[in-house]
Amino acid sequence: MDFNLPKNIENYRKQIRQFVDEHVLPLENDPKNFDEHESMLLPILDELRKLAKAKGLWALQVSKERGGGGLPVIGMAACYEEMGRSLYAPTVFNSHAPDDGNMMLLEKIGTLSQKDTWLQPMVDGKCWSAFAMTEPAPGSGSDPGGMMQTRAEKSGNQWKIYGRKWFISGAGIAEHFILVARTSDDPRKGLTAFLFHRDQPGWQLERRVPTMGPEEHGGHCELSFDGLTIDDENRLMEVGDGLKVTQIRLGTARLTHCMRWLGLSKRSLEIAQDYISERQAFDKKLSEHEGVQWMLGEAALEIHVGRLLTMHAAWKLDQGDYSRKEVSMAKVVVADTLHKVVDIAIQLNGARGYSKDTVLERIYRYARCARLVDGASEVHKMVLARNLAKENSQFWQWGVK
Ligand SMILES: Cc1cc2nc3c(=O)[nH]c(=O)nc-3n(C[C@H](O)[C@H](O)[C@H](O)COP(=O)(O)OP(=O)(O)OC[C@H]3O[C@@H](n4cnc5c(N)ncnc54)[C@H](O)[C@@H]3O)c2cc1C
Repeated sequence: MDFNLPKNIENYRKQIRQFVDEHVLPLENDPKNFDEHESMLLPILDELRKLAKAKGLWALQVSKERGGGGLPVIGMAACYEEMGRSLYAPTVFNSHAPDDGNMMLLEKIGTLSQKDTWLQPMVDGKCWSAFAMTEPAPGSGSDPGGMMQTRAEKSGNQWKIYGRKWFISGAGIAEHFILVARTSDDPRKGLTAFLFHRDQPGWQLERRVPTMGPEEHGGHCELSFDGLTIDDENRLMEVGDGLKVTQIRLGTARLTHCMRWLGLSKRSLEIAQDYISERQAFDKKLSEHEGVQWMLGEAALEIHVGRLLTMHAAWKLDQGDYSRKEVSMAKVVVADTLHKVVDIAIQLNGARGYSKDTVLERIYRYARCARLVDGASEVHKMVLARNLAKENSQFWQWGVK
């Protein structure tokens, strides 16, 4: 068993940390750098992206042949955690959700022509993307296989799409969309995934759903489809493979959220540590009070638990395993860790923590989506219980070389 990082990954990690410290964190506290949705202004972002690309810190999750960094998932875990220290840095390195998950998916399952047409402009940073699966009630949410209502009807060599999606991240700015729709009533093989371009007619962006924010570029949007036409060549995998496409995408994409959330948790603690190492109360620094040390120690411990779960799931993904239960465990724990740690950091900053003078209040609001996005925590726990029922004591079995 070896918990050391390979040197090239450690090198990337250090460079990303330095870049975030020097170029991204200094921008965070000036509201002039952000739009009304608290996203970084595009001209500022573009300059940072050029710099990151010039330094070779670009799309590390994608293969070198396509212009990325070719990192294994364990390497992403180390590097994403560093970019995750800022809400705004993942976009700078072209490793933000949902685009990073979309890129990794297309690289894994796309045909050569699909990769050239749809993936390459995303890797090059020429366009943004979105993944459209969730629907407003009574449609697809926690149970997409059973409840999806958006349907794709075959007509010759084309598909016509009818239905509604919502909470589609990035849809306000995306040009390339991955869409999951119903093609039959088969419980396992009833869904199919497609690609479409923003400029194609037959669909509408109905609204940008207002949220607690801060939001990613393009927000979370509601879309309607009234006969969008998609050529069969823009179908992903086989007809009926929509759930499989989703599982392939979400395995790694869910874990990348955990990686970024661990970075945000660490950053929250950094802000707390800066404050308590200076601030005095009852004749000594706050950091010297035992009660404060317990809070910090607990937060540090929880972050480490989350990192071990995340790294283990990453390692399993690198072995070619779907790593479903490991990703579910990491997702549940790290979402809770982010909540708890940012809450502790706000508490230790006193009134300052509740102010907008630090990014803590933004992280606190953002953290609330962690237990919902990419599967509610309760659904992940249900998946774990199903695994336990099937595997019994094998649930915890280590692999043997
Ligand atoms: C910020 C954000 C970004 C998102 N981005 C995207 C995106 O880009 N593309 C996309 O397709 N979707 C996106 N989503 C949607 C997200 O994947 C869904 O919100 C999630 O899958 C839950 O579905 P739902 O909201 O319909 O909840 P519902 O299915 O309505 O469930 C509501 C609640 O019921 C409980 N529940 C459900 N099932 C069970 C169960 N079996 N056991 C116990 N409790 C249960 C859970 O507490 C759950 O939160 C995003 C959501 C958020 C918040």
